[in-house]
Amino acid sequence: MNQKPFSRRSAFIFLITLALVSPALPQGAGVSDRRASQTSSASSVTRDPRMWREAMRIHRSAIVIDGHNDITTTMTNDNYDLGGDPPAPYRTSLARLKKGGMTGEFFSLYVRPWYVTHGGAARRTLDMIDSVYRAVERHPNDLLFATSAADIRRAKQQGKVAALMGIEGGHAIENSLPTLREFYRLGVRYMTLTWNNTNDWADAGRGEHTHHGLTDFGREVVREMNRLGMLVDVAHVSDETMSDALDTSKVPIIASHSSARALNDQPRNIPDDLLRRIAKNGGIVMVNFYQVFIDPAASQPNRERSAQLKAQEDEIEQRFKNDPERIAEEEDRLEAQHPLPATPISILIDHIDHIVQVAGIDHVGLGADFDGAVDMPEGARDVSELPNITYELLRRGYSERDIRKILGENFLRVFGQVEAYARRNGGHLSGQGSTRRIPPPVANPNR
Ligand SMILES: [Zn+2]
Repeated sequence: MNQKPFSRRSAFIFLITLALVSPALPQGAGVSDRRASQTSSASSVTRDPRMWREAMRIHRSAIVIDGHNDITTTMTNDNYDLGGDPPAPYRTSLARLKKGGMTGEFFSLYVRPWYVTHGGAARRTLDMIDSVYRAVERHPNDLLFATSAADIRRAKQQGKVAALMGIEGGHAIENSLPTLREFYRLGVRYMTLTWNNTNDWADAGRGEHTHHGLTDFGREVVREMNRLGMLVDVAHVSDETMSDALDTSKVPIIASHSSARALNDQPRNIPDDLLRRIAKNGGIVMVNFYQVFIDPAASQPNRERSAQLKAQEDEIEQRFKNDPERIAEEEDRLEAQHPLPATPISILIDHIDHIVQVAGIDHVGLGADFDGAVDMPEGARDVSELPNITYELLRRGYSERDIRKILGENFLRVFGQVEAYARRNGGHLSGQGSTRRIPPPVANPNR
């Protein structure tokens, strides 16, 4: 990447006119004391209007792809229409997607582990898929149902947002390769091998490490995903699972919403050795924005908040004990009422920088996790604020070409390679597919 520092002189010159031309960022609002002395963030009052215009030009013309958005849960549970305003504390809407210059959004089909222990994981996935279809049918002029890299480029040409789907949690396929294929047929284009729960064939980063990576069936799942043309997503998995997925996959893999462990020691983040292996594999790490994942200073306040809210959360869990969706919504609402101290956007950009340095400019993207995580950095709180990322990258000396790679071109390259491999395999989804199934997940209170 080009690291030429941008002249600071212009920041001086335009200082006084700034407030009039910089609408997207709160001017220093919410900056916590611990960082009050820092001036390295766009959230300070020194945003340069000329550079902002250049950032907007790049951003508006670029393909912008986000690897993970959980508004699908709200669309499914509450029949929330993207054309309106989402119920608090969620923030994704069509208007905000457009304001943020989004070209391709992955609507996450997140299946809670509750559906493993109680049954119905595949049904839940189908219900969520239907909510994405419903949104596209309600808003044909704004959304384009997308299942390929070409669809994403077409959406850009037509001024629409490409709506894509990714399954979060391999337990969604209920241990059946035929079921995996049906999800592909319905348009699902990535699957995160696990969520935080270890399933019957893959260990999760925050789950029990019972298999030490992928089982034999887990490797078969990866091979079948390769054959179909479904992206293998290693967000949430354990390091051993990630390593096995890299050994098994014939094509580049993705981490749809993960950040750098070297900057914040969290199991959800990826260590440098695996970042290098993802680079060698040709894959991409799409950076997660969640404060607790990116900012070491957020850990302690997060722990304190958990302790503070524990009694209320216990009460919610008791009151809605048969309704896991309601529990999650109530708890999100409660936590949003007790926000963590602000994290400046510069901390988020540090993760992008780090992955660029360790893995290379061709292996970084964005996977914000909006509406899955409620605590987001200043200036990157929802989809409408994505232009601030472009501004910050420009300010750090990234070239236009490199910024375009991070915003979306890297993802399109990986997607294209995965599609090309699947095409070489003949395109017979079921005719050539393994019918392998292992017994469906059974109720296991320890899972
Ligand atoms: Zn996630």
